[in-house]
Formats: sequence, structure tokens, C-alpha cells
Amino acid sequence: MVSLADLPLRDDLRGLVPYGAPQRPVRVALNVNENTHPIPEGVAYDIVTSLASAALSANRYPDREFTELRDGLAGYLGNGLSREQLWAANGSNEVLQQLLLAFGGPGRCALGFEPSYSMYPLLSRSTGTAWIGGTRDDNFELSSATAVRQVSEHSPDLVFLCSPNNPTGTPLTLDTIRDVYDATNGIVIVDEAYFEFTPVGTPSAVTLLPGRERLVVSRSMSKAFAFAGARVGYLAADPAVIDALRLVRLPYHLSAFTQAAASAALRHATELLAVVDDIIEQRDRIITELPKLGFSPLPSATNFVLFGGVTNPHTVFEELLERGILIREVGIPSHLRVTAGTQDETSEFLAAMAEISPR
Ligand code: PMP
Repeated sequence: MVSLADLPLRDDLRGLVPYGAPQRPVRVALNVNENTHPIPEGVAYDIVTSLASAALSANRYPDREFTELRDGLAGYLGNGLSREQLWAANGSNEVLQQLLLAFGGPGRCALGFEPSYSMYPLLSRSTGTAWIGGTRDDNFELSSATAVRQVSEHSPDLVFLCSPNNPTGTPLTLDTIRDVYDATNGIVIVDEAYFEFTPVGTPSAVTLLPGRERLVVSRSMSKAFAFAGARVGYLAADPAVIDALRLVRLPYHLSAFTQAAASAALRHATELLAVVDDIIEQRDRIITELPKLGFSPLPSATNFVLFGGVTNPHTVFEELLERGILIREVGIPSHLRVTAGTQDETSEFLAAMAEISPR
């Protein structure tokens, strides 16, 4: 048997562990913060019609500039944004990778405030960018002072601000983002993958873009849009940032099918996002109910809840799995993370937790 150690792998990849949220066939999958509501049938059929149309011209390479999709994304984000400020890729993971390819790389470094999204260090390292795992305040909050201090100390080429933060659910203020921007000459990436789950009226970092050419706001269609399987992420930034990404993207990186499906989904944004309120209700239900069982959920502005007070997270994880419920061990001692599912899924999760508490 040949193993990785036998191959002439890059030295800086040796010993790294790949991203690997368990994918198991379970009844109730609440482990990767998907929208667990299926796509409405009418929307699915319209997507299929668009795909059929794309198939008829699949003999040609797709529109390299995915013009229709960028127009759709600009329309969705509003705030006076235009196509020139929009970019998309196969999931926001690829968006982040392209940013690191353009602005990171050997001799450069990226800073994030941990615990945060586990792909930031992996994407950094795989693009040859040194990773600096910064810290947060109590309760996983991130104050302007704490963030600015670390940015000033490390002078990173890129800063990751996850807003709201995964895996903790913690929101971030625009003031902190502004202050971090002013404290660095690097690229500031605000990852708003979960933005649609923030309280109504929460301002997006998109509103900070005018006059800030190093600010990038990343978004995903994998969460609120219920489109994780299609792999579509996007960003808004100064057109010059988009020019930088054109240098590192693969030619025709967004297939004609991805473009067609995403544009069709955006035309149905209202229907697809109609379930967001219900998901928020289930999230808040989890936050209300878990303390009654002896657990300590954190406040969340996302579609998931991180909860503490779990003496043995792995045992609880396994006991839920035995009941067909998959949640997430995120490596934070005494904590577990659960995605807010449908009402029934959430009820199943809470009922199972009542059976296995106190743990
Ligand atoms: N950012 C954050 C904070 C995430 O939690 C995720 C997915 N879990 C992503 C980005 C990547 O999402 P996708 O590639 O599906 O758009």
C-alpha cells in the first residue's frame, strides 16, 4: 500500500488533514449548516428548463465573464452595485481560494480570529500563504480593539472576518470591520455566508464598499438559498479586485450549467428565501430549549447554534447518531454545533437531547 508519505508531496502539505465533515446517510443531517428545506418543485422545474437550454449550446465554452449571473447577483445585493463589482465561483470556498491565490502566496500571510471557519487555514496553507490563528474575546466575541491589536501586530496581507462567525454564530459590527480596514494595508475579507439569517435591518459590509478598494464581501448560495449542491459563491468588491481574480481563475471556471442554474435560482430568490424566517424560528427555539436541558447555547445570528455545557461532546455526538441525527463536533472543548433544520427535524433533535441530557 502506497501512502502519502511515499509520494513527493509538497513539504508544506505534509501532515495536513483534509476538510472532512462526515457525510453519512442519516435521517436528520444537521451537521454542515445547509438549508434543510428542499427546493420548491416549481423552482426546480424552472431551473431544469434553464439547464436544458444551456445543454443545447454546451458544445461551446460558457460565457467566461458569466455576465447574466453577475447582473443577477448585483440585483440581489442592491446597494447600487453593478456587474463590474461582482464575481462568482464554485462555492464561496473557491472565491476565498482565488483571493488567496491573488493576494496571498509564498512569503505572505493571512490572519483570522479563531475559532472560525476551518477552511481559512486550509485554503491559506494550500496556496502557500502562512496562516496566523488570532484570538477572540470572551464568549467568542470580537471587539474592534482585540481585532485591531492583532492586525497591527502581524501586518497580514489578508484578514478574514467571518460575519456572523462560523462555528460560533457570533455577529460582528460594521465598526469593527471599518477599524480593521483602517489598521491594515492588506485585503480585508468579510465572509457573509450566513448574512440572510441576521436580524432584519442588520447592515451588510457591502454598504462599506464605496471608497474601500481593499474590502471584499464574500457570500454563498449554499445556505439561505438552499443551493449547496449547485456550488455557487460570490463576492462584491472594487472592480480592480475582480481584475486581480481574473489573473488566477481557471479559464471558464463557472460551467454553463452552474451559470444557468444560479441565474434561475436568483430569479426565484423570494420563493427560495421564504423559509429563512422558519429557520430563524427553529434556531431561536434551540436557543430557548437547550438551557432547560442543562446546556448553554450561544447567541446566534446564523442558521446554527453552538452550545456548551457538554461534558463529553463525542459521546453526545455518537448517541445522536445512533438515533439518526448528525450534528457537528467542531473541536471546541465541551461544545457541539447543530444546524437549525425544519420544525420536525428540530423537534427530533431536541427530543433526543432531552433523552441523553445531562451530559
Ligand atoms: N464561509 C463560511 C463561513 C462557511 O461556513 C462556509 C460553508 N460551511 C463557506 C464559506 C463555504 O461555503 P460554500 O463553498 O458552500 O459557498
